[in-house]
Amino acid sequence: SRRGAPAPKLVIDLGRLSELPAHQAGPLARYAAAIQSQRGDYNGKVLTIRQEDLRSLAVIYDMSPESLTEQLVGWGVLPAGTELD
Ligand code: C2E
Ligand code: C2E
Ligand code: C2E
Repeated sequence: SRRGAPAPKLVIDLGRLSELPAHQAGPLARYAAAIQSQRGDYNGKVLTIRQEDLRSLAVIYDMSPESLTEQLVGWGVLPAGTELD
């Protein structure tokens, strides 16, 4: 992580995610649903995911982790200013 600073949190806006067309949101929506299921965390407006998960998602989307993060910010799924550690 950046010297002295905690890693930035990846906080997914589940409401915004549900508004996106399936061809954009599909893989991330399935991944988020799997995490919610594993945690038993079904009622949140947001879901905080692991840094490691963003790297797995980047493989699924065939993008670099940095580009995927920018894309998700552009879609409004991650808050403006989110950067990878
Ligand atoms: P696990 O990885 O063996 O984690 C067991 C428990 O440790 C979790 O139960 C949670 O209470 C705690 N834990 C582990 N890492 C963290 C963390 O970074 N922050 C916090 N706050 N707690 C943590 P929980 O939440 O019921 O999750 C059960 C299992 O579901 C986890 O077992 C893991 O296999 C999976 N899982 C949950 N959330 C995620 C996620 O965001 N990404 C991935 N890849 N798997 C997840
Ligand atoms: P925070 O991480 O900034 O989260 C703020 C609020 O966003 C949380 O308020 C919760 O309403 C929502 N939120 C964030 N991530 C998730 C998620 O993955 N699932 C769901 N369902 N909601 C989420 P809350 O619960 O009152 O927690 C307030 C603060 O307490 C959190 O701020 C965090 O600093 C701490 N906290 C709560 N639960 C945990 C935890 O399991 N592990 C750690 N390390 N901190 C926690
Ligand atoms: P957090 O709970 O505040 O944890 C911040 C960072 O501390 C995590 O970043 C991880 O690097 C480390 N950490 C915390 N608990 C554990 C643990 O039990 N085992 C290990 N190996 N590392 C731990 P990370 O992984 O990027 O996760 C970011 C946030 O995602 C966590 O913030 C938490 O809000 C959420 N999260 C991740 N995994 C789980 C999980 O299994 N269950 C739940 N409920 N939340 C999780």
